[in-house]
Amino acid sequence: MRLLITGGAGFIGSHLCDHFLGQGHEVVCMDNLLTGRCENIAHHFGNTRFHFVHYDVTDYIHVDGALDAVLHFASPASPVDFERLAIRILKVGALGTHKALGVARAKGARFLLASTSECYGDPLVHPQHEEYWGNVNPIGVRGVYDEAKRFAEAMTMAYHRTHGVDTRIARIFNTYGERMRLDDGRAIPNFITQAVSGRDLTVFGDGRQTRSICYVSDLVSGIDRLLQSSVTQPVNLGNPTEMSMYELARRIVEMTGSQSRIASRPLPEDDPRVRLPDITRARTLLGWEPQVAPEEGLRRTIAWFSAQLGTANA
Ligand code: UDP
Repeated sequence: MRLLITGGAGFIGSHLCDHFLGQGHEVVCMDNLLTGRCENIAHHFGNTRFHFVHYDVTDYIHVDGALDAVLHFASPASPVDFERLAIRILKVGALGTHKALGVARAKGARFLLASTSECYGDPLVHPQHEEYWGNVNPIGVRGVYDEAKRFAEAMTMAYHRTHGVDTRIARIFNTYGERMRLDDGRAIPNFITQAVSGRDLTVFGDGRQTRSICYVSDLVSGIDRLLQSSVTQPVNLGNPTEMSMYELARRIVEMTGSQSRIASRPLPEDDPRVRLPDITRARTLLGWEPQVAPEEGLRRTIAWFSAQLGTANA
């Protein structure tokens, strides 16, 4: 296959580049490096099956040659970026998705959208199954990401219905692992960086809000299975184990052997109280479920962050 991966220098995008190159495919990686980083893909420079294009996908996309698949992963995705990059997020979700669908249509390529559990907002149904339409505040600070992705899903289905593009929609729940930015701002990078540096762990609110954490290699295998399947409906991909943020912080303190304390900080606006994927669809239609336990995924992620911080401090 010859694939275009937008956001290919980002956290998940770069792991997808590794995966598909590792399987012998050819990858065109497109990224404007707004939140993606060259370090994430530098190990592929010189590989003749890898092509990096420094480009903003909100502009008309041109790719030389044939494409079998377009994986649209371009977008800032951390809540700390939702205010800072509000308009860029709306543009990449709306204009960028339109352009990525356009190139998929022109090339007769399969299209896979990186959508998100944020489509469910602060959910009133728990756990969240794909039939649930969500509870999103369109004018809140998180709304820029949530509504951009909801628009992206609507645009994807419109291209599927109107133009017959062969589309897939992955609703990705909290995913973590190597190559998240040290200053990414999400819970796991923050907690690990704080624990390793001996600073207080900043738990927002009372820490009773829950998430489920999916290790990146599991997510990548889910994306691959979805791409190979014929499922055009959205599919939740995430780890079906729920954990409070206080519990997550406590585990990271324990695993790092840190002396850090857990400190409370104000809860951000519209922070979802609970989030847990119902992965029945992924299990039955893709035969997929996560394999990596949080202990193992966190151990690997802590090791990677510690090495990065060591280098940063050296
Ligand atoms: N969170 C926290 N401390 C931090 C960063 C995040 O307690 O330093 C909380 C945040 O309020 C949310 C949860 O951890 O309830 C997950 O946040 P994250 O930014 O990782 O992703 P989200 O699921 O909110 O998109």
